[in-house]
Formats: sequence, structure tokens, C-alpha cells
Amino acid sequence: MNLHKAFIQKNINLMNDIPGLTADVLRLDVIDEVISGNKWYKLKKYIEDALKLKKKIIVTFGGAFSNHIVATAAACRLNNLECVGIIRGEEPQKWSHTLIKAKQEGMKMVFISRDDYREKKIPVELLTKDHYLINEGGYGLPGAEGITDILKEFDTTNYSDIFCAVGTGTMMAGLIKASLPGQQITGIPVLKNMPGIENEIKALLIPEERLKAFNLVDHYHFNGYAKYSQKLINFMNDFFDINQIPLDFVYTGKLFFGVSQFTKQNNFSGKKILIVHSGGLQGNLSLPKGKLMF
Ligand SMILES: *Cc1c(COP(=O)(O)O)cnc(C)c1O
Repeated sequence: MNLHKAFIQKNINLMNDIPGLTADVLRLDVIDEVISGNKWYKLKKYIEDALKLKKKIIVTFGGAFSNHIVATAAACRLNNLECVGIIRGEEPQKWSHTLIKAKQEGMKMVFISRDDYREKKIPVELLTKDHYLINEGGYGLPGAEGITDILKEFDTTNYSDIFCAVGTGTMMAGLIKASLPGQQITGIPVLKNMPGIENEIKALLIPEERLKAFNLVDHYHFNGYAKYSQKLINFMNDFFDINQIPLDFVYTGKLFFGVSQFTKQNNFSGKKILIVHSGGLQGNLSLPKGKLMF
């Protein structure tokens, strides 16, 4: 597999008609179509840990459309580890693109009922000493620590505001850890009704890090995880038209829509904005054909 180098794209149009306001975008989406962006960083420390402990098989959880599932499959193949995905719900008649891709990357799938999934019940045969467990979505401290490299690998010191999408909050926790004094990290949750998310993020921070500047802006989830409206699709198409940057409808479409609105409603003049494009473009394969122009 050929991984590409991420880069910072300067001065993108935020499409909110605020004169002079632009943002730079950290293009983690270009790293790889499958192990896109943040998943690559989130998995790094887990894989290192598993190899160090001489584990042979990675076990993780996810839904049928999970970017984490497909990224884990690819990362395991790259590191000669076996992997098993415990998938939420009965085996579907028609497999999602995500599941097909993960299988192609060598992942074995175990489908469990939604009730068992909620309790994260692990089939006993997957509990041997050879198995290494990664939480759903890669949530956890090793995941957040892997993310801190994002702000170190690129010159991000002069940004005052850094925006990211929030699923489990692991990426945001990592960005908070790596942030410098004077930098504000703003997260846009893509799930609805997640009152616990702030605590989930704080659970990955030490007390000093909890005092850093960060906030969550909870109005741009479009009714829930993987839900979308024509308004979101139109925004994504217009955004591509103007900036030539593809977005996905689950995470980064909502993120960029949110930043466009939020920076319009609040005074950002003189601020230096960086938006983390965390990838996830493979998710668009589950949209009806023709919805997106790219
Ligand atoms: C998984 C994912 C996220 C969310 O990351 P968390 O660490 O779970 O908050 C954001 N963007 C994309 C594209 C993702 O695939």
C-alpha cells in the first residue's frame, strides 16, 4: 500500500460571505482512501502496543458503515496481524461497501445482535491471550496519543483556532493534548444527543489538559449519525465546486458546514483557522449514485 503525504491547503473559501475570512485545511484525507486520515493516527499506538505484546489478532467493534472497521482491517494487513471485526446487528443480506472492503483487507467478521453489541459482549473464542482488543471507534488513551502527532508533524503553531469533527471524541482529545497556549480547539459532534461526550473527552485528559481552551458546538449533527439532508449535500457539492475538496456526509461535510456557520455567527476577524479534514470519503459510497458531483 502506498500512503500519501498529508499537507496543509491554504486559504480555502468558507462560503459564508465574511469578507477576508478564510481557513487552512489539514488534508489528512489524502493519506489513503481506506486508512484515511485520523484513523491512521488513532490506530498507530494500538498496533505498536499489540506488536510489542506479541499479540497475533486484533479484535475491534463497529457498525456496518464504520470507517474504523475498514481502517483497522487495512492497518492490520500492513502489519501482518490478523483481525476480527465484531459487527453490530445480524449479517445484512447486502453487505455495505465498508464491510466488503474490510473483508478484502483480510478482516474476519462476527455479527452479533444489537443487544449483545450494546454490552460489547465478546464471543469467548476471541478472548485468548493472542487477542488484542481495540475499543469501538478506537476510543481510548493510546488513540488520543497517536493523534497528538498530527499537530507535531505539520507547522500548526500559528493557528488560533483548530476545528475537528467529533465521533468518539478521541481525535479531539488528542488535539487538545497537543494544543499550545492561545489555541482553541472546537469540536463539531456528528452524533445527536451525546450529553456525555464532553466527559468522554475529559476522561482522556490529565487535569492540566482539562484546563486548556476547548469547546463543543452541538448544532450541526443533521439529526444524527450518518443522517443527512439535501441541504448538507448541496453544501458539499458547492464546497467541492469552489475549493476542489471532497467531503464525506458522515463527518467532514457536517464539520465544514458547521465551521462555515459558526465563523459567520461569531467574530473570527484576525483569527487563523485550521480545519482538520479527517478523511472518511469511503463512506460516500453508501449514498445513492448521482447525489454528489465528485
Ligand atoms: C472516525 C472519524 C472521525 C471521528 O473521530 P473520533 O476520534 O471518533 O471522534 C472524524 N472524521 C472521520 C472522517 C472519521 O472517520
